Amino acid sequence: MKIAFISSECVPFAKTGGLADVAGALPDALKHQKHDICVIMPKYKMISDREFSIRTLRGKVNIHMDGAIETAKIKYKKEPQSVPVYFVDNKNYYYRDELYRTSDGDYEDNAQRFIFFSRAVLEILKKINFQPDIIHCNDWQTGLIPAYLKILYKDDPFFSKTGTVFTIHNIAYQGIFPKDIMPLTGLGWDEFVMEKMEFWDQINFLKTGIVYSDAVTTVSPTYSHEIQTDPKYGMGLEGVLLDRRNVLYGIINGVDYNNWNPKTDKFIKYKYDLKNMSNKSKNKVELLKENKLPVRKNVPLIGFISRLDPQKGLDIISEAMDKLMKLDIQFILLGTGDQVYHNMFEQIEKRYPGKMKARLEFNNAVAHKIYAGCDIFLMPSHFEPCGLGQMISFKYGTVPLVHKTGGLADTVDNYSPGTQTGKGFVFKEYSAKGLLKAVKKALKVFEDKKRWEKLISNGMKADFSWDASTRSYVKLYKKILTAK
Ligand code: ADP
Repeated sequence: MKIAFISSECVPFAKTGGLADVAGALPDALKHQKHDICVIMPKYKMISDREFSIRTLRGKVNIHMDGAIETAKIKYKKEPQSVPVYFVDNKNYYYRDELYRTSDGDYEDNAQRFIFFSRAVLEILKKINFQPDIIHCNDWQTGLIPAYLKILYKDDPFFSKTGTVFTIHNIAYQGIFPKDIMPLTGLGWDEFVMEKMEFWDQINFLKTGIVYSDAVTTVSPTYSHEIQTDPKYGMGLEGVLLDRRNVLYGIINGVDYNNWNPKTDKFIKYKYDLKNMSNKSKNKVELLKENKLPVRKNVPLIGFISRLDPQKGLDIISEAMDKLMKLDIQFILLGTGDQVYHNMFEQIEKRYPGKMKARLEFNNAVAHKIYAGCDIFLMPSHFEPCGLGQMISFKYGTVPLVHKTGGLADTVDNYSPGTQTGKGFVFKEYSAKGLLKAVKKALKVFEDKKRWEKLISNGMKADFSWDASTRSYVKLYKKILTAK
């Protein structure tokens, strides 16, 4: 099968969250299963041509943007064994310090930036003569592509057999813009109706993707139910999703063990696996020293790596913090987000020297060290489409402690001291109280070294690789093609 995978971010080039991990791993897994696949993404400023040996293709694509013509150069990276990646290169739109926003808010021209991207993608596919069976779109940034195929390219023989999959990685980001940008989309006002692109008198890119694609997926079975049935999760789109329930699937993400494996991890000093867990303790010591925390080997070290966003449970963490810090634990946080959260964690660090370290940055190397060096990984998300941190933690022998929601509910089963089954700690009630109770339970198990070892090994033995999920996607692609 020929598949074009379209994403606004992709590891190792540009990343703000889990989407980039998926875009880096799923295409690779599809290639291993012998499918012909390419990735298309924007060429951001931070993607260095030299570092990645990126070359420029001859020819450009011209896109009409409400009367004006904007041009994209096509850049690409192609190596014999890896998935070819094509970049939409336009300095005006993508050469910025960040991908979508600064700490002051979203870039004002995000609609233009991703309308242009979506239109350029389809033109580039023609230019490089990659005639896909499936275009796999991801999140609001690519939401207009399925609409363009069904409307602007309806009679284009190049795409006559092309099906579309639209994956929702997080419904909290919908790409909602004022209706005056409708002419910029290149689509007619007849699309601006409730059944199609309109959402409370504005344009909704995510909704457009849901409505126009042949199949919609989201990144865990539980989240796919939550977003259809509960406004708290569906965020206004639950009705649209319910309408499309016959083509809505929940497929859990995997972890790319080429990047996330303590046995081969180039960012950690002491490599380890289940047979060699003393090296995990050495990484813990390194992590504590590097972060100027006292080395207290037998005190549980809790890690938290996340975008600092309300979604991630920051309200209950903040409410629980003083009580948490009274326990005999150490805590290390890695994250960036709105300034209010930076201030909040700076304050907490000041209040609890020697117990708490807040690293307010995006730093992949540090993330690896935290997964390897901690005992417990905190993920009390209010909602969580899939979540990668908990699955990465399993592999590193770090025990996840999670709120029972979305993908966290699908991947972490609660430890039972009686049967010694389960891989983590799960709390149902979303509250500081619920969180604290789970932490206390974890600390109790931690005291019992034998039980803790068993708990760790339950997680380390689990397989969250991409194999199974990739097979589910292929099955879905085939279903779409047979229906065409
Ligand atoms: P989301 O996509 O909602 O941000 P996920 O759990 O699906 O959440 O994926 C987050 C990914 O980003 C994980 O790989 C996590 O390790 C990584 N990550 C999050 N914040 C940081 C950070 N500050 N520095 C490095 N990596 C981070």
